[in-house]
Amino acid sequence: MKHDPLLRTLLSQPSAPFRERHVIAALTHELKQGGVPHFVDPIGNIVVGVANKAEYLKLIKTPSKEPVRIFIAHMDHPGFHGVKWKSPTQLEFKWHGGSPLEHIVGAGVWLADETGPLTHGKIVEVKMLESGRAMKSGVIEFTTSPSQTTLAGLPASSFYGGLSFRATHWQGDGEDSQLIYTKAADDLVGSFAIASVALDLLGIPPAKSGKANTKKKKLTKVPASKRPPFIGLLTRAEEVGFIGAIGHFELGWLKSAKRPLLAVSLETSRTLPGAEIGKGPVVRLGDRFTVFHPGCLHVFTELAKKLLPEKHQRRIMDGGTCEGTTATAYGIPTVGISVPLGNYHNQSFQGGPDSRGPNGPAPEFVHLGDVEALITLCHGLMRPKLDWSNPWASKVAEFKKNLKSYNALLRSGP
Ligand SMILES: [Zn+2]
Repeated sequence: MKHDPLLRTLLSQPSAPFRERHVIAALTHELKQGGVPHFVDPIGNIVVGVANKAEYLKLIKTPSKEPVRIFIAHMDHPGFHGVKWKSPTQLEFKWHGGSPLEHIVGAGVWLADETGPLTHGKIVEVKMLESGRAMKSGVIEFTTSPSQTTLAGLPASSFYGGLSFRATHWQGDGEDSQLIYTKAADDLVGSFAIASVALDLLGIPPAKSGKANTKKKKLTKVPASKRPPFIGLLTRAEEVGFIGAIGHFELGWLKSAKRPLLAVSLETSRTLPGAEIGKGPVVRLGDRFTVFHPGCLHVFTELAKKLLPEKHQRRIMDGGTCEGTTATAYGIPTVGISVPLGNYHNQSFQGGPDSRGPNGPAPEFVHLGDVEALITLCHGLMRPKLDWSNPWASKVAEFKKNLKSYNALLRSGP
């Protein structure tokens, strides 16, 4: 897969709600290297495809029939923040987002701070939310300690973490060789897809081998006036309720648009009947909260049939909500794409390697073929002259033809 090393780099980054800095650093490094314009909005989200707010506003204010596609994915994953030291080797934590429900005590965790990954530990006590739907808080004990006394000297709140397994990510073998297991596919896979598409559309083409340094200066970036109508929005803190996306929409920038907009939510989503791992990305008709835009979904459905015949799926993914809900609520026509996700939110639904038992901690996993096909769909959505403004025209023509063919029978009765 193109840009495959970037996927692995992202999967190896520590990330939790409100603690996305290492994912941000890895992504911005890659975008900078690739010459892709981007900036950080006042919420801390990364905006890709435009270099600053002025270029963003210019793009959405340039009159055109072509909608600006706003691809949205989030950079966080459920995890915890340190709250208080219980002892020099035990840390009390608060959990943010979904989580496994059973077999939690004894589960391994990774810990990081602003400098990067630090050490590992295990959960020794846990409290669930009153709803019973996720962890609320608990206590971690350090199991490896480069220098416990040094760590204990730091404020508890500087630490954050999440569930850990044999490695940050690894590929299956034999029949499972196309599966990638990881501490967090949700939604680093979506973030990867946006960066990957941006590098293809807007990146400086790589210099011929051996001449990278000398040639680089001569290669120019795509000038703003020739850029495709693409914005990537890589958000923070989705797992606690779309906070980064809400913050971005509340900036009000999109209200000044003088052309259509199309939001495309990219997610990894809990598998459901008809949305199975390895059978292709899912044209997401809606989430648990709402359906998305019917006209745009029709255009997207026809496109997916052409681009990935027999290799995509299509349904309402109501195993969870996504940022498509936020975009819809803010009045932006929306479609979604889901990559079917094994062991959603590290809860062992499918089991597999390193699972601690049904509903217990387990690595998430996705199929690399589904990820690659997700990127194919994203590129497809960028095609010019798709029928966004008149999506039902061919269907209405078909209806009219049917009506005409029954004219005689209509007149023969009733
Ligand atoms: Zn997600």
